[in-house]
Amino acid sequence: MARIFCVANQKGGVGKTTTCVNLAAALHLAGQRTLLVDLDPQGNATMGSGVDKRALEKSVYHLLVGLATLDEVRVKSESGGYDILPANRDLAGAEVELVNLDNREKRLRDALRAFDADYDFVLIDCPPSLSMLTLNGLCGAHGVIIPMQCEYYALEGLSDLVNTIKKVHANLNRELKIIGLLRVMFDPRVTLQQQVSAQLESHFGDKVFRAIVPRNVRLAEAPSHGLPGVVFDKAAKGAQAYMAFAHEMIERIKTI
Ligand code: ADP
Ligand code: MG
Repeated sequence: MARIFCVANQKGGVGKTTTCVNLAAALHLAGQRTLLVDLDPQGNATMGSGVDKRALEKSVYHLLVGLATLDEVRVKSESGGYDILPANRDLAGAEVELVNLDNREKRLRDALRAFDADYDFVLIDCPPSLSMLTLNGLCGAHGVIIPMQCEYYALEGLSDLVNTIKKVHANLNRELKIIGLLRVMFDPRVTLQQQVSAQLESHFGDKVFRAIVPRNVRLAEAPSHGLPGVVFDKAAKGAQAYMAFAHEMIERIKTI
């Protein structure tokens, strides 16, 4: 059975896409059958996986509105080794069209369910909003991974996300849990970051992943080559952190 995780945070630029692409590639390297779902009309996870978002015949948009099956939409990321349901600007239209469709929050869940046996892990890259697309991500998942930077305002944004997750759990998806908080773009030389990191650990305990992803320019350079960071430069500190995170996830799913 596939374990499905939504990578969410309503703030932009906090490392959701970087986390999805690198975790997917790291899980593949660790022998896990992995599917990445790009739920952001910006299509960054698609491009970062080496798939050209401008040349898609079918995208996750077609899947959500019922114009294609998962099998018709999925392509392989040659650079990352995992499968991907790619996205581009078409997906922005789904937001409006979904409102008039039956079961509008559960379209992704229903589509994934039929292919459950094909994967060990499914990762969903959410857009930076608490929109109908993110709702589809949260309804389709068993758990949420929240990447965050250790800065003052990070904690403020977290409470909105946690409340949304609680509401989805209560009303739409009883399986949904917060799997953990992942500290990303971490710079241990900055005192405030150390303080926020310690605060997270004392407040959230083992909901904070042990792996910490440092700020690392190689991770930021990789997408321009259409490669996951863990493939682009596997010796870099950022790549090694995502490999460690993948192994932590493989351990963690045994307990959930
Ligand atoms: P989101 O998907 O949440 O909007 P991204 O993953 O696109 O965030 O990251 C935002 C920017 O930060 C991108 O330019 C990305 O390359 C860069 N970035 C992400 N993680 C790191 C990191 N650990 N070190 C350095 N740059 C990073
Ligand atoms: Mg993104």
